[in-house]
Amino acid sequence: MSAQLTIHVAGEWRKAASGATREILDPAHAAPFAVVAEGGAEDTDAAVAAAREAFDGGDWPRTPVAERAALLRRVAGLLERDREELGRLESRDAGKTVEEGRVDVDCVADAFRYFADLVVNETGRVVDAGSPDIHSVVVHEPVGVCGLITPWNYPLLQASWKIAPALAAGNTFVVKPSEITPLSTVALIRLLSEAGLPDGVANLVTGPGDPVGARLADHPDVDLVSFTGGLASGTKVMRAAADSVKKVALELGGKNPNVVFADACTDDGSFDTAVDQALNAAFIHSGQVCSAGSRLIVEESLAERFVAELARRAELIRLGPGTDDGVECGPLVSAQQLAKTEEYVASALAEGAVLRAGGKRPDGPGYFYRPTVLDRCDRTMRVVREEVFGPVLTVETFRTEDEAVALANDTEYGLAGGVWSGEPGRARRVAARLRHGTVWINDFHPYLPQAEWGGFGKSGIGRELGPAGLAEYRETKHIYQNLAPRPVRWFAG
Ligand code: NAD
Repeated sequence: MSAQLTIHVAGEWRKAASGATREILDPAHAAPFAVVAEGGAEDTDAAVAAAREAFDGGDWPRTPVAERAALLRRVAGLLERDREELGRLESRDAGKTVEEGRVDVDCVADAFRYFADLVVNETGRVVDAGSPDIHSVVVHEPVGVCGLITPWNYPLLQASWKIAPALAAGNTFVVKPSEITPLSTVALIRLLSEAGLPDGVANLVTGPGDPVGARLADHPDVDLVSFTGGLASGTKVMRAAADSVKKVALELGGKNPNVVFADACTDDGSFDTAVDQALNAAFIHSGQVCSAGSRLIVEESLAERFVAELARRAELIRLGPGTDDGVECGPLVSAQQLAKTEEYVASALAEGAVLRAGGKRPDGPGYFYRPTVLDRCDRTMRVVREEVFGPVLTVETFRTEDEAVALANDTEYGLAGGVWSGEPGRARRVAARLRHGTVWINDFHPYLPQAEWGGFGKSGIGRELGPAGLAEYRETKHIYQNLAPRPVRWFAG
């Protein structure tokens, strides 16, 4: 199969209608390693038409849930079979380490199994209408044709958090991966076919946000658009979806606080743990994580010791191609992402931040940037308010619990945050006051397929994972059956 046959419509792999192609770069070497079809509006319309036909006339929406669940479990098995290959592909394309790529595959397999289990158990309910003559049930049905748009940082994972519940619920879809990291989504669509998904249910268009994503968002035959990506594109998607009154789900950015109280660090062991996790929170995948703990908010009495150790350890992080053994952090995904990171660090320094680690590119090829710690930051700075999406950690300090909460909530986003405290009551109190969709206490980053993921504020609308993550892809219908109909006699004549 030609590498350029990456558009999947009605079960067939195609080139772009225009014949256009795009080179896919390995960000560790800034060099092309694959070529894909550069789809456009015509390809998108064809994919939507295929998904529409499969929904309106095909079997999938009416396939018993047990069979749909069985298919999802087969997909999970195939993902595990191809774990190594997929992990390496993701590493090459998105720049993450191979081990992170493998972990992503494991998480994706878990998500497919989770939604398989959930959909057979979440079966609607009988409602007591107060009369033996009335049979009242609330049932769930698929929404229809779903447009699924995903970003470049967790390409396989983000696509799967949408595809698994969409299929479980009986929808058909068109997925549009990020134009710079489409390869693992192409591989996933192949696995869906191998698992026996009928043609036309899963369609894929590789191509740019505009026109492919924009067309999905405003297409009258698309019933739902689920978007993960940046705030600027997300607001465009929401506007474009308005005319056709689509269901809209948005998973957007974050500027995530990691609040550390001095009582979290009462001995060497707890100090080491909190520092280690703060490093992980900020720098895993070079900070290109929507939930990255990029704002360290640390109690003043602990701050100097904490930041000194954090900076020391940040300087030790081993950068390199994610496919190399022993590498801890890969590159940024693109030249654009690197330039953006450099610009944010320069603006922070101009605004008075103090550089404690990093702040530069290492020598050599690839889009690498050293993990960077910026001390003496405050919430008026752009680097504190805006999402950098690079390996940049800002440090702010507080004296009281109220001050810590006020700082942590002072963001237009609200995706995730961490609280570190040795006093369980304080940790729970602060967690309860944080306006963020996920709050970790004495931890950072783990998520569970059973627990909802999503944001408050400008971090988005709706939830992925958990029961709410399935509900996004279902319509709810009340069926009220009168078993003994009689005239109402409201109208006398
Ligand atoms: P992006 O917004 O540039 O692109 C995301 C996707 O949207 C891509 O597929 C892109 O082609 C498409 N797109 C761009 N313009 C569009 C338009 N006008 N209409 C429709 N689609 C369009 O984001 P990115 O740079 O790929 O990803 C990084 C962003 O994603 C960060 O802000 C990050 O926080 C966010 N993100 C959020 C989550 C979450 O769970 N909340 C997870 C991962 C990433």
